Amino acid sequence: MMRRAHTDEMKTSLRADKIIQKLIQEFEKNKELLRQAGWIVSDVNSFEWWDGLKTADEILISSILVQMTKWEIVKKVIERLRQIGLNKLDKLANLSEEEIEELIKGVNFYKTKAKRLKKLATIVKEKGLENIVKNEKTLKEIEGIGDETAESLQLFVANLPVFPRSEYASRILSRILGEKISKKEAKILAESYLKDDVYKLKLFHAGIVTIGKIFCLSKPKCNSCIFKDLCAYYKHVVKS
Ligand code: SF4
Repeated sequence: MMRRAHTDEMKTSLRADKIIQKLIQEFEKNKELLRQAGWIVSDVNSFEWWDGLKTADEILISSILVQMTKWEIVKKVIERLRQIGLNKLDKLANLSEEEIEELIKGVNFYKTKAKRLKKLATIVKEKGLENIVKNEKTLKEIEGIGDETAESLQLFVANLPVFPRSEYASRILSRILGEKISKKEAKILAESYLKDDVYKLKLFHAGIVTIGKIFCLSKPKCNSCIFKDLCAYYKHVVKS
C-alpha cells in the first residue's frame, strides 16, 4: 500500500514537472496576453515586470496601496508621485501621515494606508531597502504585507528564487492536473521544477495570475483558455 502511494506520488510529480515546463513555453509565446493583465515580460532583473513600474520603491509603495483598490488608480498615484519626485521611500519617511494622506487620496482606505506607508518608509530608511526585501520575516512583520505580497516582493524586487503562494496557482494547477493542489504545494512544485531560475519563476507567476484573471475564474471560461488542451478539468468536466 505504501509502495503504491509512493508510485502515485512519483507519477503526479513527473506529470507536474512536464506540465510546468509546458506552461512556461506557452507563457513565453503569449507575452502579449500577460501584458493585458499588467505583466510586462522584461529582462530578468528589470522592475518593469510590475506593469512598467520603474523602481523597487515604486513596487513597494504600490504593494501597500493596492489592497482593496483598483490597480489603475494605484498606477495613477504612483505616476503622480514620480512626477513630483516623491516616488521614493526615504522622501516619504520625511513627510507626516497627513501629508502622505493628501498624496494618496483616491486610493481606498487612504488614511490607514498613509499610516502603513509612513511606517514602511521609516523602516526602509533605517534598515535599507535591500535588507528589508531580502528578509521574508521582516517583510511579513510590516503591516499590510501578507504571505503572497512578501513572496512577490522577494521575487520581483529582491530577485530571489521564490514562487509566491497564490490562490490562482492553487486553482489552476489543481484543475490542470486534476487533483487538489494547495497554495503551499503549488509553491513547492514551482520552486522544485524551476529551481533557481528567477526569470522562469517570474514568468510562471505572471502567467498564472494572468490565466487566473482572464480565463480560470471560479466559473472558468475554458473554451477560450490557451490551456484547454492540457487541462484535466476541461477534458473530464467541460468536454465530457
Ligand atoms: S481550461 Fe478551464 S479549468 Fe483549465 S486552466 Fe483553462 S480556464 Fe482553467
